[in-house]
This record gives sequence, C-alpha cells and structure tokens, in this order.
Amino acid sequence: MQILHPFAGSVQQYLKHFDEPDQHRPTHCPQCQSKRPPTAHGFYTRTIIDTAFDGPIPVRRYLCQACRRTVSLLPEFALPYLRSSVSVIALFLVARLLQAKTLAASLSPSAPYQRGQLWLRRFRAQAETLCASLVALTVPAPATDFVHRALTMLEASGWIPAHRFLFTDLRQHLLGWPPSLFPAGRRAAFPPAAALA
Ligand SMILES: [Zn+2]
Repeated sequence: MQILHPFAGSVQQYLKHFDEPDQHRPTHCPQCQSKRPPTAHGFYTRTIIDTAFDGPIPVRRYLCQACRRTVSLLPEFALPYLRSSVSVIALFLVARLLQAKTLAASLSPSAPYQRGQLWLRRFRAQAETLCASLVALTVPAPATDFVHRALTMLEASGWIPAHRFLFTDLRQHLLGWPPSLFPAGRRAAFPPAAALA
C-alpha cells in the first residue's frame, strides 16, 4: 500500500533528506491498524519527471510485523503509477484546458504527445468526481462544465495540497485510478518501473 510521505518540498529536498529511515516512519500500520510501528524495509526506485528533474528516486518502504504487508511512503509531488510529477501534469492541464494552448505548446518538448492525450482523457473522466471531492477544500467554482470547474478548484486549493487530501483522506487519484486498481488503488504487488505510464 502506498501512503504519502509527510515530507513537503521539492524533489531535490526530498533526495537530500532521504537518508533518515526513522524520521518519517509511520506510527502505525494503515492496513491492519496494529499499534506497533512498521519497521524499515529498504526502498524501491521509481522515475519522476519534474520541471527541473528527470530521473530515478528512491521510495522508502516499511514492513508491518503484524500483518507482514508493506507500506511505502510516496513523496507528495508524485502520483501513483505515473512518471510525471503533479506539477508537470498541472502545468500541462492548465495550459491546454484553461489557457486553450495547443497540445504541443502545452507539453514539454521532450514529452510524447500520447502522454498529453492520456492525461486529458483521464482528467476529463475524473473531473466530476474531483468537483464533488474538492468542495471539502474550496468553494465550488462557477463554470460551464466539470472540467473547468475542477481545474479552477485545483488552482484555488493548490494542486499538491489537493492531491494530498484526495489521496490520503479519500484514496482518490488526481487522474483517476487505472481500471485494474479501481476504486482505491490497491493491489497486492507494485508494478515494475517499466509499467509506469
Ligand atoms: Zn499491518
């Protein structure tokens, strides 16, 4: 199971402070509610593409001694099962959907256009759910459709605070869970890095 790292900051700050496994160790297991804190259980690496970073990052993992399941602490700038950071996806969606730029002008030059199309498809499918959920953080924005309302609400609450709330409190994915993980993003094993979209 992935939960969000309590750390807030940039990719570079995250990497700088990664060496302390006990600093952010979960106080209890989120899966069986055992009172014993999970023990450090190494890390796995995943890719992150951020505005000023493109490469692998380690993700800290803990093992619950009671239920023998692992918990990993995903940094808040990352989304499960997507290579690109919340900020990169937010910049794209705002440019394409709020500012009506072309797909090519909205994407970073190195990104394949299919990636932008995938984000658009998933965001449009998720927009109505986001509008309903984000009412907990900000007032519903007047807009003619759910896509524009969700974008305006995300801009108002901040994309990363919104992602933290959606993921931690509601187990919702900003772009919706892939069908295989619906509805709460759970399955037994993590996919290999190559399976990241
Ligand atoms: Zn447990």
